[in-house]
Amino acid sequence: ANSAGFDLTDPAQLDRIDVARDPHRQAEFSAAPMLAETPAAAQTEPGDGPAPTPRPSPVDPADVPGHVRDASPADIDAALDAAQVWSAPREERARVLSAAADLYEQDFGALFALLAREAGKTMTDAVAELREAVDFLRYYAARLPDQAPLGRVTCISPWNFPLAIFSGQIAAALGAGNAVLAKPAPQTPLIAARAIAHLHAAGVPAGALQLLPGGGEVGAALTSDPRVDGVVFTGSTATARHIARAMADTLAPGAPLIAETGGLNAMIVDSTALPEQAVRDILASAFQSAGQRCSALRCLYVQEDIAGSFKKMLFGAMDALETGDPWELGTDSGPLIDAAVHGRISGYVEAARTEGRVLHEATQSGPGHALPPVVIEVPGIGAMEDEIFGPVLHLATYRSDEIDAVIDAINARGYGLTFGLHTRIDDRVQHVVERLTVGNLYVNRNQIGAVVGSQPFGGEGLSGTGPKAGGPLYLPKFTRPETPAPGA
Ligand code: GLU
Repeated sequence: ANSAGFDLTDPAQLDRIDVARDPHRQAEFSAAPMLAETPAAAQTEPGDGPAPTPRPSPVDPADVPGHVRDASPADIDAALDAAQVWSAPREERARVLSAAADLYEQDFGALFALLAREAGKTMTDAVAELREAVDFLRYYAARLPDQAPLGRVTCISPWNFPLAIFSGQIAAALGAGNAVLAKPAPQTPLIAARAIAHLHAAGVPAGALQLLPGGGEVGAALTSDPRVDGVVFTGSTATARHIARAMADTLAPGAPLIAETGGLNAMIVDSTALPEQAVRDILASAFQSAGQRCSALRCLYVQEDIAGSFKKMLFGAMDALETGDPWELGTDSGPLIDAAVHGRISGYVEAARTEGRVLHEATQSGPGHALPPVVIEVPGIGAMEDEIFGPVLHLATYRSDEIDAVIDAINARGYGLTFGLHTRIDDRVQHVVERLTVGNLYVNRNQIGAVVGSQPFGGEGLSGTGPKAGGPLYLPKFTRPETPAPGA
């Protein structure tokens, strides 16, 4: 553990993270003690495995909110051996998950600080993220299943919702009574460590929940070991395929993969749409969180008849967006997650610029790895773009008789996560709902920020396996269905 580190297992020390804005007044803390606390790492000698490495902030790379030692192969092996299903009665598990939700809420200041510093979240996004994490804990706690758990479940979560998705996966797996091996994204292990500390403090046994920070190797080890009975994953479609192959080769044939993956999410704005409302919802869908959401709008289809005036309004509104310091309350979107992502997306925008396809670029940029929102022209309805996980919106126009061609083009891509429709024609809503294959379809509003319980979230096709998170079908996937006794 790093010497400046906090012991996250000590509740008194949890209060010592300073939420002040000045990074130099913010003490460091380390996730390494979390490993030491688990049965797995208790078996490793101090100094074993890789040394703790600094985790620089995407807002200001000179600000280092903590150091983390990645799990070594020995840690992973020991964790799998030490993993124990959570055999407490259902009511007790529900009580503990609810108690963890209370601890999350009480710790809001430090969690907001970490969400901003480690993940570059704006305050608006941080508030929504804590809310969503707490909602997951309480929603699943209220619906825990009676069936037997799968056994050992690996949870692999993304950096874009380092608290909400991380906690949602774990809450479902644990709530169903499984032993959880949690691998957070390599970019956001500190938030993960803090969440785990709350879950343990609330009463989750150490053997039922173990944190194994690290990157691809740790993920590969945790999805290709015969001791694993199921995997839940949120991330790219390519990684999900990779995991599925590894699981097929090494795990028992029945071990489920629950995956929520990428999307090429579209929105249609027809000539009856209310332009001010559509513009507001496009800004949120495409550029909030710097576009770093699976649900974010990637390709906008505007009916040709209104395209000229609509684009003018949209581009003007983009110039008023504040891309900046996440700590400022007025900031609309913060930085990209790290230098590598920034380099890749800047390169993509640069190539589009060279081709003369950049229609508009916002004027403001913020600190760290921020990138100004940009709109890129798509040459034709069917033109296929890769998912660009940043503040990059693609735009195409369509003629009024081409709406079915647009729907066909969207379906043909094979993804099916979110979709937005702005129209005031009721029949058109019906028509589109019937023909589009997507998980979450939103009418006359933005297409991000699905709410646990009321908008279960998840896609079809290349976008995921289902079941939707925060919905009634999710928890049963973490159990072994049992045939009822005859006559029961
Ligand atoms: N549930 C989030 C939303 O509705 C997106 C989750 C993700 O990006 O994976 O915006």
